[in-house]
Order: sequence, then C-alpha cells, then structure tokens
Amino acid sequence: MSDAERSGERIPRNFITDIIDSDLKEGRVDHVATRFPPEPNGYLHIGHAKSICLNFGLARDYGGTCNMRFDDTNPVKEDMEYIESIKRDVNWLGFKWNNLCHSSDYFDRLYGYAVELINQGLAYVDEQSPEQIHDTRGTLTAPGKESPYRNRSPEENLKLFEMMRDGKFAEGKACLRAKINMASPFMCMRDPVIYRIRFATHELTGDKWCIYPMYDFTHCISDAIEGITHSICTLEFQDNRRLYDWVLDHISIDHEHRPHQYEMSRLNLEYSITSKRKLNLLVEKGLVDGWDDPRLTTISGLRRRGYTPASIREFCRRIGVTKQENTIEISALESCIREDLNANAPRAMAVLRPLRLVIDNYGRDGTDVTSVTCPNHPDKPEMGSRQVSFGKELFIEQEDFREEANKQFKRLKLGHEVRLRNAYVVKAVSCEKDSAGNVTCVHCEAVPGTLGANVEGHKPKGVIHWVDAADCCRCKVILYKNLFKVPNPGAAEDFLATVDPESKTEIQDAALERSLENAKPGDSWQFERQGYFCADSKNSKPGAPVFNLTVALRDTRKAQA
Ligand code: ATP
Ligand code: MG
Repeated sequence: MSDAERSGERIPRNFITDIIDSDLKEGRVDHVATRFPPEPNGYLHIGHAKSICLNFGLARDYGGTCNMRFDDTNPVKEDMEYIESIKRDVNWLGFKWNNLCHSSDYFDRLYGYAVELINQGLAYVDEQSPEQIHDTRGTLTAPGKESPYRNRSPEENLKLFEMMRDGKFAEGKACLRAKINMASPFMCMRDPVIYRIRFATHELTGDKWCIYPMYDFTHCISDAIEGITHSICTLEFQDNRRLYDWVLDHISIDHEHRPHQYEMSRLNLEYSITSKRKLNLLVEKGLVDGWDDPRLTTISGLRRRGYTPASIREFCRRIGVTKQENTIEISALESCIREDLNANAPRAMAVLRPLRLVIDNYGRDGTDVTSVTCPNHPDKPEMGSRQVSFGKELFIEQEDFREEANKQFKRLKLGHEVRLRNAYVVKAVSCEKDSAGNVTCVHCEAVPGTLGANVEGHKPKGVIHWVDAADCCRCKVILYKNLFKVPNPGAAEDFLATVDPESKTEIQDAALERSLENAKPGDSWQFERQGYFCADSKNSKPGAPVFNLTVALRDTRKAQA
C-alpha cells in the first residue's frame, strides 16, 4: 500500500469522476485504468504533481490501475537521469504504479500499425522538407496545400517507408504522414507527420531504429495496448483528440477497451515555471543550483526546500480538476506546507543574526540555571521536550533589540523587560557599541523567580528567542524569496531576465541550539518566531548542517498588501 492510500485520501468530485461514474454505471467500462505519461526530457514539476495525483488517485479511488509510462519517442532530448528522477519523484509523492512501461516498448507494433495505414492508402511518405511541410500547412482561415507526394501508391509508400527505416534517407529528407484532410479546420488533421527520421541512439532501443513515431500516433496506440480506459491530458491537446480517435479508428487494434482522451486545464502557478524546456534553460545557464534548487517548483526542488509529499498532495486536492484555465497564487501552495509543518514540525530556537546578550546578575539571585526545558511542540505534549543549554552569555536576534523604540516594539529596549522564551524575564540595562555605532552587546538583569513563572509587576508582552552563546551550533542558513521578479515569468519575452538575483540570501554564521547540530538532511523544524526550515540534503554534513527556509510563519505578502 502506498502512502497516499494509507492516508485515506480521496479526490474530490470533479468532471472526470463524473465521466467515470457514468461510464461505470452505463457499463461502458467495468474498471478504471489510467496512466501517467511523462516525456523523460527533464525533472518533474508541480504541474506534473497535479497529473500524478489525479491519475494515481483515480486508480486508488476506483480500485483500478495506473501505469507509469515513459513517453520516450525523442531520443535527442531524453536521458536516463531523467527517467530515474521521475520514478523517484512519483514514489516520493506517495504513489505506486502497476506497470512500468515505455512507448519504446511498442516500437515494433507501432511500426506495424503504420504499415497498416499505408496499406489502406491512409499514410504516405513525404519527401518535402520540414520547412516546406510547415509552410504548406495553411492557416486557421486558409486550407493547407496538398503535398506533391500525397498520391503515391501504397506499394511505393511501403517501399519508401522501409527505406526510411533502413536508414536510406537522411534526416529531414523524408517522413511518414497520415493522409487525412489538408482543408480540415483542425490543423492537427492536416496530414500530420507520424514518423520522422532521427539518427540518434535511444536510451533503451539503442541504434535499432532511425525512425521515431510522433506523439499523436504513439500516445493513443500505447493507451490501447495498455488497456487504458481514461487517458487524461491537458487542454492544449483538445483538438488532437480527433487525431487520437482517427488513428484508433483506422488500425486493427483490439477495441474491447477503447481508450478515450479527456482534457483538463494545466496547473499554472504564480512566480514559477512549469515547462521542462524552460527549467532546463535555467539549469544550463547556471541561474539555479540544479534541477533541485530549492527556489524551483520542481518536485525535487520542493523536496529539498522542505515540502512534504502530503502537503503537495493536499495542494493538488485543493486546486481541483477543471476545464477552466487559471493561475494559482503561490500562497495556496505555501499554506499547505505551513499547515503541515505547523502541526508536525518540532520547535527549536535559532538566532539568524546574532547579537550578544550578557546577563550581568547571572549566578546571583537564583538565576543560575545551566539549561531549561523546552517543549518540542506547544500543542502536542506527546512530542516531548528537550533540555536547551542556558548561561550568562546568550545570543538574541539583532532586530530584537533597540536602544529606543515606541510602544509597538514589543521586544527588548533599554530600561524595559522582555521574556526569553522558556526562560527568565530580563531587563536591558545598557549596551556596548563599536566605533561605527552598531550595538555589539546588550547587558541585562534577569528577574529572580521568573523562570517558567510569572512574578507580579514583571509581565512583559514580548517574548524573544535566544541560544546559549557558549553552547550552540554555528552554521549556514539560507533564506529564499520567489525566484522570479514577476508573477508570470513564463509569459515574459526573456524569462531568464526576470530571475531575481536577490531571491537567495545566505546567512553564514547563524547560531542554533545545539540539538540541531546533527540534523538529518531533509528533517524540518519550526525555528520559533522565524519560520519553517529544513536541513539541506545536498550541502549538510554531519555536525555541520545547512538549513533552507521552507516557508515563513505567516504570509507576509498578504500582510503588506
Ligand atoms: P513540459 O512542458 O513540462 O515538458 P509536458 O506536458 O510536455 O510539459 P510531459 O512530460 O509530456 O510534460 O507530461 C506528462 C503528463 O503531465 C502529461 O499527461 C501532461 O498533461 C501532464 N502535465 C504536464 N504539465 C502539467 C501542468 N502544468 N498541469 C497539469 N498537468 C501537466
Ligand atoms: Mg512534452
């Protein structure tokens, strides 16, 4: 059983579940078989998560099957690294496939079906150049022009197609086209190319083939071979459904479970890119630290950022499945991880920009504890507690101290009191400064009797976090903002120019409580009053963790607006 099954999750009703319900009721199908069909030309992104949650989720909810299918028909762009990363990401999201398939498993059968079309006079070898084919397609208002090679006999086409297969034509010198209708109002029906020549070594079939089938021809046949009942894709393939059906109508494949294509809207997410091609550019140009850069909304980037599989599944559940194109606010994704970590992440104290605080009366007046007990979660006593080292010299956040401030400033200011989280109430009595006038140290007095207790007359409103300067872990913490400066980078003329060079801030020498020193890569905490952070899986070393900001405690964008 997979995680997503164990958790008892279900897809909320949508137009596709309506279709399935009626198909089952009317007896058009007696089971549900779906597939997730990525092209292995990059890493998966959040848009794919929507498709994964839907396809695997339908199989789960209806007791059906979902195949993992690599749509590997373009050897030029595909790579084993991508295949491995995609498998890992799907499993990590909590799903298990029934069969692991590749379009390339069907190359022999696809070739056979192409021959069938040729024999029926429904496909021909075109020797026009790709440019000529493109230029004679026509437009939305004008019909295309028929190829001078369109009316060759099946015998001649068969011979030429075999020559294509045998490497007798150079790339671009011939292709196989379906003979449909050059005047069709649907461009995809104007004699679409169904096979092209590529002298490239395929990851799985090696050099066996130098002709490769195109998506529209391959997909429907692969669906039929696998017995897929509901083949779900995104809206830009709406017109292609005609070609999907045309191919299946004209080949001899068993129609017992005739697959049908359904289209849903793509997931578009603000401030992010959901195109493998563009993500690849960011990686290639070195604008990000690999496909798993924590600023990317790739599945691997989100994982490294600290997102949990459950939070991504919950996001996909909330956005739903419709036919309306829209763009989801990034805050919708952030809410999901914030809610998950708020419920589940242990708390810890971390000072990102340390300022020394000295308790002048430490060791007197009963203010001499060397450690304090801190609950790991304020609402979950079952998560236990830990001892955090305490002493005369602490670190607090620079921004938590001001020499003077108005009433709105609830933190520490000279002459006033603040509570140190889980420890004493302290009063700031003086501060030291460097020659530039920057405060370098705050001197305080601890109020006796305030350790874990209230004392009349000493009930400050503010609480600040701290760590013991003499016993803490110094390490790197990385803060992130949106990678792009504009909400819709995908629409920008030069999307690379919309990358925000300040989207990443490295803090070299944060001070964290000692318990975080041996953080396991991937583990998450709430750093109290700061946000949720996770130990980086690439750069953390035993005893020297690096932390990534997953998400702030609150949606500050909203607050500013
Ligand atoms: P890309 O441009 O990133 O390569 P694609 O659609 O070409 O996107 P595929 O690898 O072919 O990517 O997609 C695998 C499956 O994921 C397809 O069924 C596709 O419809 C779906 N998918 C891809 N992107 C999105 C998205 N943004 N929202 C929903 N589904 C998506
Ligand atoms: Mg694609």
